[in-house]
Amino acid sequence: MSDNVPSKPAVLPYKELEEAVWNKDLCAGCRACITVCPGNTLAYDDTLNKPYQYTPCVDCKACLDACPRYGKNYQSFRSGDILGPYLDVRSVRSLLDTPRAQNGGAVTALLTAALEEEVVDCALVMSSDRWIQKAFPTVAYYPEDLRKAAGSKYDSNGVLEALKTVAKDTSVRSIALVGTPCTVESAALLRASTNEYAVALTAKLRFVLGLFCFESFDNAMVQDVAKRLEVPTWNITKMNAGEGRMTVHLRGGEVKHLPLQSLGGHVRKGCKACPDFTARDSDISIGSVGSQPGLSTVVIRSAAGEGLFHIAEDLHYLEAVPGVDIGAIEKVGKLKLKKNGLL
Ligand SMILES: Cc1cc2nc3c(=O)[nH]c(=O)nc-3n(C[C@H](O)[C@H](O)[C@H](O)COP(=O)(O)OP(=O)(O)OC[C@H]3O[C@@H](n4cnc5c(N)ncnc54)[C@H](O)[C@@H]3O)c2cc1C
Ligand code: SF4
Ligand code: SF4
Ligand code: SF4
Repeated sequence: MSDNVPSKPAVLPYKELEEAVWNKDLCAGCRACITVCPGNTLAYDDTLNKPYQYTPCVDCKACLDACPRYGKNYQSFRSGDILGPYLDVRSVRSLLDTPRAQNGGAVTALLTAALEEEVVDCALVMSSDRWIQKAFPTVAYYPEDLRKAAGSKYDSNGVLEALKTVAKDTSVRSIALVGTPCTVESAALLRASTNEYAVALTAKLRFVLGLFCFESFDNAMVQDVAKRLEVPTWNITKMNAGEGRMTVHLRGGEVKHLPLQSLGGHVRKGCKACPDFTARDSDISIGSVGSQPGLSTVVIRSAAGEGLFHIAEDLHYLEAVPGVDIGAIEKVGKLKLKKNGLL
């Protein structure tokens, strides 16, 4: 190039994310870019459902490595293989008392075993403010923390943000993380990255537990549901999205329903570009599809996942029951990919 041709100014990495992901409605809301950022440059806008820049960027590129919707990263997760790699698939029920469990309580049982056997020091999960039903990431150090955080939170997948503080805590040596498939993809990218900030963030990550996920919703969904059903948010004890409807359990035992289609306006835009139903990159993933009501389907994928499952079984915290339907998982996974134009 001739000396007198001005060189193109470099585009800062967060600007690349802005153009390629945020402005194209691809953002999954996983917060990996925010969590890995050494400069606290980015924050998440809960109303627009995407990050924004608010302090200067130090141009380290860690966010580009971590984003599951950026360039080649996104391509690498696009696959018609619904189930992904696995060693075993089981239907299970928890033998622990977990009143808030979403399905069979498998996640809480697995994490309780991990904490009690001291194979991890803490677990990163999603709790919710039971008065307004707003989800937030939290660090569980004791089984009681897990009991409180049980149940699916459909309005946020910001669990990774909890990793930022815990990764720096010198009293914590090993961590379990629970997340939707987008969070699990981010964790896989962070683990694979050689960027020094990603390496520091994931060094203590021992188990990644994935939740099956068809779609999730914005943070106005719960308020809307409460308004339409004419119930105060504090009266809601549990919500369950499945079989075409949102089932809402109330204090006192009453159960109400809304068609999921009527909540379509609350589905986050980034979910409509999502290529994974079963959290293929986790150590072990858990959902309801494929099992009878009141049970959890568990997909054991890695040696770490297998070890954790055996520990929970040996402690009699969960038991496997026959009858898992792998075809049902594949059917729902394909439906998701078709809906998102990816199959
Ligand atoms: C947004 C969303 C959509 C889902 N869609 C489907 C679906 O279409 N089909 C299907 O079969 N299953 C789906 N699931 C999974 C299902 O709802 C249950 O979470 C799963 O079966 C585990 O149930 P369990 O009783 O074993 O877990 P529990 O023992 O109740 O434990 C659940 C654990 O997950 C944590 N958690 C809850 N929400 C989140 C979140 N958003 N991010 C990170 N951690 C979280 C809780 O804090 C808790 O530790 C979805 C889950 C979510 C969050
Ligand atoms: S991770 Fe690095 S490149 Fe990305 S916004 Fe933060 S400072 Fe900038
Ligand atoms: S998908 Fe995740 S990493 Fe990518 S921009 Fe959105 S929040 Fe950040
Ligand atoms: S559908 Fe689920 S896994 Fe996919 S982006 Fe939305 S919350 Fe994440």
